[in-house]
Amino acid sequence: MSQRQLAMVMDLNKCIGCQTCTVACKTQWTNRNGREYMYWNNVETYPGTGYPKNWMDLGGGFDAAGDIQEGIIPNIEADYGVPWDYNFEAVGAGEQLVPNIEPTWGPNWDEDQGDGDFPNDNYFFYIPRICNHCTNPGCLSSCPRDAIFKRDQDGVVLVDLDRCQGYRYCIAGCPYKKIYFNPKISKSEKCILCFPRIEQGLPPACAQQCVGRIRFVGFLDDEQSQVHQLVHKYKVALPLNAHKGTGPNIYYVPPTEAPPKFDANGNVIEGSNRIPTEELEKLFGQEVHGAIKTLKSEMQKRKETGKSELMDLLIAYQHSEMFRLDNGYYKSLEKNKLAPIDTRYLKGKNTHKISHFKAGH
Ligand code: SF4
Ligand code: SF4
Repeated sequence: MSQRQLAMVMDLNKCIGCQTCTVACKTQWTNRNGREYMYWNNVETYPGTGYPKNWMDLGGGFDAAGDIQEGIIPNIEADYGVPWDYNFEAVGAGEQLVPNIEPTWGPNWDEDQGDGDFPNDNYFFYIPRICNHCTNPGCLSSCPRDAIFKRDQDGVVLVDLDRCQGYRYCIAGCPYKKIYFNPKISKSEKCILCFPRIEQGLPPACAQQCVGRIRFVGFLDDEQSQVHQLVHKYKVALPLNAHKGTGPNIYYVPPTEAPPKFDANGNVIEGSNRIPTEELEKLFGQEVHGAIKTLKSEMQKRKETGKSELMDLLIAYQHSEMFRLDNGYYKSLEKNKLAPIDTRYLKGKNTHKISHFKAGH
């Protein structure tokens, strides 16, 4: 376990699915050099197939005994989708805008479709996803080369590209499918939580650019941080698929107020809620009930008294109020304070090496 842990909280009630975060990340990190198909940050519609396709069913993570589970390596063409471009220059000469290949699949192929019967009880919401910089990373445990490590100073999970041989066990072992194979260099690559920005006291590009102001960033052990308060004090921010056993450090404030359903005559069904509770339990476990209860009671308190520290925190009147990244902390780290990489690998019962994985399809 790292000495400190950076975390991000995303308030799903505020995400508008604009994909600004996706573009911020892509232009910064993944629009070149074999990473074109990768989305270190993506925003998917739930319910939906997600990215890569049906990632929740592709295994990885740990069982209750702490043993790593076998997983599937998604197929780039079928499950991620081959990126395409458009003939922009030709359009200037009067031709019609067309893609340069026949697209067959891609992220957000089913964006905004959701589930339920339109118009009476259909619904969806957005889930932005990045690597969870897990406390017990499935990717790290699966790597037979010990090429993945967790930084002591902030828990950021990184790939040591000098050690990585491109075996891709890490992709099978990650239950979130948030580590990718770069075919150009035959290595695995993933979200680095914009650590060069973080070290300068700046939030990751996805958080900095977020239009909906849904993303809070800070250290979990810093009691003054927004992430500490949302995760530990108010317990309204929950990890996604915690049962996978990796200890994710990206947390979500669950969608709290959905529109009501309509009856066959188009009248509002009072007290109804379009988002099925069992779907939220599936994503966030039983803890989701306590989180929603707290959120609703604080909303009520705010309505009645005009006051709620939690609502003020979630509203984030000033963008700068969403991040607590003490630049001085990084500056204060002595140059050689960190142990060499080899002694930073996690040790323990959950770090068995995976012996095999299912073939992709
Ligand atoms: S989300 Fe996946 S890639 Fe990221 S640290 Fe966890 S197991 Fe590794
Ligand atoms: S930029 Fe913010 S609001 Fe827009 S999709 Fe990303 S997380 Fe959601």
